[in-house]
This record gives sequence, structure tokens and C-alpha cells, in this order.
Amino acid sequence: IRIWIPADTAALAAGADETAAAFEEAAQARGVEIDIARNGSRGMLWLEPLVEAGMNHDRIAFGPVRAADAASVLDAILDGKEHPLGHGRTVEMPWLAHQERLTFARVGVIDPLDLADYEAHAGLTGLRKALTMEPAAICAEVLESGLRGRGGAGFPAGIKWKTVLDQKAERKYVACNADEGDSGTFADRMLMEGDPLLMVEAMTIAGIATGATEGYIYIRSEYPRAIAQMKAAIAVMEGAGWLGENIQGSGHSFRMKVRRGAGAYICGEESSMLQSIEGKRGTVRVKPPIPAISGLFGQPTVINNVLTLASVPLIIDRGAAFYKNYGVGRSHGTQPFQLAGNIKRGGLVEKAFGITIRELIEGFGGGTASGRPFRTAQIGGPLGAYVSEDMLDLPMDYEAMATHQAMVGHGGVVVFDDTVDMAEMARFAFEFCEEESCGKCTPCRIGAIRGKETVEKILRGENVAKNIALIDDLCELMRDGSLCAMGGLTPMPVLSAIRLFPEDFDRATPVAA
Ligand code: SF4
Repeated sequence: IRIWIPADTAALAAGADETAAAFEEAAQARGVEIDIARNGSRGMLWLEPLVEAGMNHDRIAFGPVRAADAASVLDAILDGKEHPLGHGRTVEMPWLAHQERLTFARVGVIDPLDLADYEAHAGLTGLRKALTMEPAAICAEVLESGLRGRGGAGFPAGIKWKTVLDQKAERKYVACNADEGDSGTFADRMLMEGDPLLMVEAMTIAGIATGATEGYIYIRSEYPRAIAQMKAAIAVMEGAGWLGENIQGSGHSFRMKVRRGAGAYICGEESSMLQSIEGKRGTVRVKPPIPAISGLFGQPTVINNVLTLASVPLIIDRGAAFYKNYGVGRSHGTQPFQLAGNIKRGGLVEKAFGITIRELIEGFGGGTASGRPFRTAQIGGPLGAYVSEDMLDLPMDYEAMATHQAMVGHGGVVVFDDTVDMAEMARFAFEFCEEESCGKCTPCRIGAIRGKETVEKILRGENVAKNIALIDDLCELMRDGSLCAMGGLTPMPVLSAIRLFPEDFDRATPVAA
């Protein structure tokens, strides 16, 4: 019998290793042989450790299975009996059945570093096809698919790729941004831990498409397991001839390295990341030149986020039209949304663009964990806007969100109930900017501090109307005058909080705790 127990960081934090050891012990005590496989997480984080019995799609799920539950769950598996922690066939669980998992199709399904398992689940099909294509045709396919940057900016990936392809240079690079510093987001980590071979395949395709021969994946230091998985995946692909010199005799060469970040939020900004990879302090570079023309070590560089790159093998394998069919308007494909904060069922939901915020929070998420009324959600990370209850039927797509002065960002949705104090959240937004600013430009470096001080005056009830007007002015300056999105987007959470929840800023009427 094969028993799947995730070794994803979220599952490990919930005691997955102890559960695995308890299964071994229970099997020995019963004199039965079990084969414990360690997979990625299915993304149902409230059920971790989620234990599954069986193979491929015929698996039965149990969760959350603590070490103390292992013996009784094993007995239920062996006897084919029901168990209070049982959820039936995994693929039929509503949370998974209602998703459109393209990027996360293999996460939680395969043994992450088993190349044969990867291939048995459509792995390498994109790279095999890319090796038979002209670089320009690969770039054209990515452009035609409508794939946009999943890191937050939403820039068309195909345009970046074509720009790098068109540069004449001795050396070109692919840099994958896996810094994932936004609070409430974990999709990059889950993917790197649960399907790391996909990232190697994707970056290799990017190299072939643009003429880049070296790739760096920049992973934040807080993700030690993702770093280990990616290093191991690189070794597996090199060992099988899918990475390195003359890949599978194709004449294409591509090498990959993992770079460990050093814990600064600003290193998730692409030019700071390049500085950091080069061994320098992570500060923002002035553009132009854009990295596609002069990036890493002054050479043309493709910079994409984990989720952007991870979409590419499928696009090459199934074609641009297949991918483009998902989504709405100019937002094509799927987005892995991450539900976090005060939510009953937190985790990862991959759906085509166009799903409403309500479907995510109430449908998949089941509302607040506290059971108290929903008040707001911050969407797109700490620089994203807050939304109010009457915005819940907004579709999650780049344009619809932008028309409401909000953004999809990296797909993070952090939920708050009615106990949240939005003036405090506005103060926190400035404080976050103050802490994480690289200090290069004045609107952000000084603006964040003055903004925090001004909200603190409002919190004390001092000249509220005048101070709100000051914050309005300051936000306009930060938005228009900052060198990068750190200072440029900090106004988004601040102004959305003031606009949608003005009652919290009227400190003459204290906010209920
Ligand atoms: Fe640095 Fe902030 Fe200016 Fe960005 S906006 S360059 S983080 S000081």
C-alpha cells in the first residue's frame, strides 16, 4: 500500500514528519508493509497533514491526521472502512474538484523529485516540443497565449522574451524571481517544493527561446525546503541530460543555479534582485535600460516570477489557444490564488481569471475563521488595496481590479473580520514601507515615515480632517514620484482604507474592539 504524506513546509509545520513516523510504527506493529511517499501539498492547508492512500487519481484522503490518529487511519485503510477523518476520493473533494489546476496539476500528485513520475504526468512534454521549435516561434507562442507576469505587474511575458531574443550579446540570462515576500502568499513555495522539476523545465524553455544559456532562481532565505528541492531538481535534470551542455543532443545548452536571498522585501523588485544575485546590496536600479536589454551582469536578461515561468511548459505543449481559452478579457489563463488571514479554509485555489472575490472567500474559503462578519480583505500583498463587502462580486482580473483602484498582484487574499481597525492598517502600510524601503528615493524613504506619523496623529484624534488631506497629498507624491512599486503602491492600501472605511478614521467615534 502506498501512503502519501506531504513534506511541504505547511504540512511539516502541522506535524507531517511525526505523522509519517507514526504510520511506520503502526505498520510494523501490524506486520504490514507500507510504502510512504512524500508529496507536495494539495493546498488544503486546514487539512494538513493530509494523508492519502492509493495511486494516481485513485486516492482516498484523510485529514488532518496527527501522529495519534495514524494507527486508526491505517486500520481504516487496511480494512477498507470509513474513518471520521476520511474525505473520500481526493479528486472528488469539492475544494479540488472545483478548481482548474493547470500550473499546479502535479503538485500533491507526484513524488516531486521522481523524474519517471514527472514524465508519467505530462512532465517534459513542453521542453521536448521546445527543442524542436525555432526560438522565435516559442516566443510567439508565449506572446499569443496572453501570459502576463504573475509577480504583480502583469506585463506580457512574450514581449520580454522577444526583446531578449532580439538582443545581440555574448551571454544572456534567465532570472526567476522566487523571493515571494508578500504576506499571505505561498504559491511559489508550494510549487517549488511540490513540483520543482517543472521550474527547471520552464527555465530551460525560457533559455532556449531567448538564447540565454544561464539561469538563476532567486529564492528567499525563509524557504530552506524550496531551496533544497530546487537544488535537488537541478541535479536530477542534469543527471538525465535535460540540463547542461547540448541538452539531449539538441545543440542547446542551459545551466541553472539557485541563489539564496538575504531577507529583504525589496529584493523581490526585479532590479534589486539582480543587484543581489550579483552579490551587491539590494537597491533599486534606475530604468532605462530595462533588464531585457541590460540586466544581470549588464547582459540581456529575462526576469519572470515562478508562476509565470511555470505556465510556459503547458503553453508550449498544448498551444497558445488552449491556454488563452481560460480567463476573461485580457486576463488569460489561470491564477493560483492564496487564501489566508482570518479564513476558515485557507490554502491554494487555482482558477481561471474572472472568479469573483466572493467565490474565493465564501465559496472556497468558507468565510471567516472566527465566525464573525467579514469586513475586508487585502488583495495582492501588503501593497494591495483593501476591498469592502460590496466589492465582493468583483471578478478577479487585471482590468476589473484596476478600475476599482485595486490589483490582483501575486494572487494573495488576506481576510479580516469586523474587529479590524482600518486606521491601524493604514498606519501599518506606512510602517511596512518605512521598514522595507531601500532608501534610494525621497518620496518613499521620507514619505513612509511622515505618513506613519500622520496616521498616528489621526489615531490620537488630532486634526483628523486636515491630516487626512495631508495623507492624500503625500500619497499622490509617493505614487507619482517613487522610483519603484514599493513607494509607488504603498498609497494603495492607505487610500483604500480611508476611502472605504472612513468611519475608522473618525477617532471621535472610537472603533469597537
Ligand atoms: Fe527604494 Fe522605496 Fe525608492 Fe523603491 S520607492 S527605489 S524601495 S526608496
